[in-house]
Amino acid sequence: MIAIEDVSKRYADGTVAVDRLSLQIPDHSITVLVGPSGCGKTTTLRMINRMIEPSSGTIRVDGEDIRNRPVNSLRRSMGYVIQNAGLFQHRTILDNIATVPRLLGWSKQKARERAAELMERVGLDPAMARRYPYQLSGGQQQRVGVARALAADPPILLMDEPFSAVDPVVRRGLQEELLRIQGELGKAIVFVTHDMDEAITVGDRIAVLRTGGKLAQFAAPDEILSSPADSFVERFLGADRGIRGLSFLSTEGLELDRSRVFPVGSDRQEIAGRDPEGAPVLVTDADGKPLGWADPGTWDAEVATLEPYGETFEVGRDSLRVALDRAVLSPTGLAVAVDATGRVLGIAGQETIAAAIRSDRRRRAADAGQDTSPAKALR
Ligand code: ADP
Repeated sequence: MIAIEDVSKRYADGTVAVDRLSLQIPDHSITVLVGPSGCGKTTTLRMINRMIEPSSGTIRVDGEDIRNRPVNSLRRSMGYVIQNAGLFQHRTILDNIATVPRLLGWSKQKARERAAELMERVGLDPAMARRYPYQLSGGQQQRVGVARALAADPPILLMDEPFSAVDPVVRRGLQEELLRIQGELGKAIVFVTHDMDEAITVGDRIAVLRTGGKLAQFAAPDEILSSPADSFVERFLGADRGIRGLSFLSTEGLELDRSRVFPVGSDRQEIAGRDPEGAPVLVTDADGKPLGWADPGTWDAEVATLEPYGETFEVGRDSLRVALDRAVLSPTGLAVAVDATGRVLGIAGQETIAAAIRSDRRRRAADAGQDTSPAKALR
């Protein structure tokens, strides 16, 4: 555990970069420092590995004041990843990753074996081992940066805007990879970003900093989205925080309509009779996989004339945000729910999804011992 206790940093020119910051950063979790440019994120991160010394306050790792630790041994216990990876251009990928083990006195062979193992862990093709950094894409270089930081198996990983320089699709892949690696390794990770979406994706807990290096809020992502501490945090979250908050709500237990799902070849009279109003029905193949939407009154029983069902959501795995997105994009306003094998479990309209959101709010308000009147819960 890293404890930042009442820490301030005033630079020589008088700039107060960090102002009386206190944070408890637990083991086995990703703590994100987020905030606008210049709010003191990098300064805070670098005070943890003593690249910058605080002007006042104390930082402890597992209870010990880091000022009592020799800088070299402190830094070796902390992997450090920066934007653009910061690789040694004249060294191969394998030797880049083996850098710290070599500094620790490992034999060349042992260090390279370890490096090869890490390449696999971060999802790099072993064929890249002998290449040089300039022969890799930006995303691959970042993976090398992560592998290098993990090489000596440090308990702590410090990451400063590690994925900011790559395009959004690659970035998403790197974020997923980080979560997968963290699931296997369980480090104490401190992750700096200016991007709230990234903070929400990777963070177990998020510290939102405001300009001047003051802590605005320190909480789990869903709590920040549902209850921002003040108007600064609210503005920083952006206009769609309500929708984004749905990412934390599961589709498990969503009330699905099964009465309007028919296997192809079903009796036309039965389909038409199901809903005289003509609300759409979903037609599936014999295996239960979706084929498309039909208007029960007019459909000619041809698969070719079905309306495309669009994208589905998987119950339990996908969030209510995904379900709502599918419903909004669906030509019928209905989202198709499937199981892990892609078989249809039922359909859900926007109203059903909205009802699930409302009931979750009421349940959470009740859990928090708050007023559960719908007006308040719906806010
Ligand atoms: P962030 O990482 O959130 O963008 P930084 O920690 O880099 O913020 O910087 C916080 C503030 O401290 C900024 O106003 C920045 O200009 C200032 N700052 C950073 N490094 C120095 C320095 N060496 N000397 C003076 N001011 C600095």
